[in-house]
Amino acid sequence: MRILVSNDDGYTAPGIEALYNALEGLGELTVVAPETNCSGASNSLTLDRPLSVRQAANGFYYVNGTPSDCVHIALTGLLDFRPDLVVSGINHGANMGDDTLYSGTVAAATEGFLFGIPSIAFSLTEKGWHHLDTAAHVARQVVERHVAQPLERAILLNVNIPAVPLESLGGVRVTRLGKRHPSEPVVRSSTPYGEPVYWIGPAGGALDFAEDTDFGAVERSMASITPLRLDLTHYDQLPGIGQWAEPICASR
Ligand code: MN
Repeated sequence: MRILVSNDDGYTAPGIEALYNALEGLGELTVVAPETNCSGASNSLTLDRPLSVRQAANGFYYVNGTPSDCVHIALTGLLDFRPDLVVSGINHGANMGDDTLYSGTVAAATEGFLFGIPSIAFSLTEKGWHHLDTAAHVARQVVERHVAQPLERAILLNVNIPAVPLESLGGVRVTRLGKRHPSEPVVRSSTPYGEPVYWIGPAGGALDFAEDTDFGAVERSMASITPLRLDLTHYDQLPGIGQWAEPICASR
């Protein structure tokens, strides 16, 4: 089993080191991760400049680009093999509900999935790296399960682990995504020269945190596994939007 490891917090983040150490012995591990923190980068690719790949003393490759850049480069030319699995994380903070659309952690896994490779994103739901060992334990369990019984089709899993001691972990639950918008307001500040600047505010609290959601599981001190898909088509709305758009579809 050859495993490509990436993240969005950067190659020096405690989370990627913990993930790397947790997976040791399960396969041949290769790390290709961003040079700097790219949290919130989503699926962005760097198209306006070339990218450099360098290797740290510990063997980790790092790229002056986004999480998607890292996995993309790894899969399309950097590596001389095709990984059997892409893992991303362990992220510093939750990636639940709407977070998945902004997340660079999920994006790194998404890039693997887009290339047809089973991919898994791991996130520790609270900042501060407390109980990172619990998340590392769960990550190893999930990857061990994949090694023992690989899923037939390429999968994209989003795993969130609560920041609790391992003995307090209430198990693992398969969930759907909850919802969290609206976000907190932007934080207005100013440059030393009087120009107004804005910090994007923190994510909002959970709006849909039903028991069967990722939020619901984590609230109950359980790790959450959500299978994701990428087809954003709203199939239920195809007929209605078809009718609505008829006049413009008929016009030339
Ligand atoms: Mn991050």
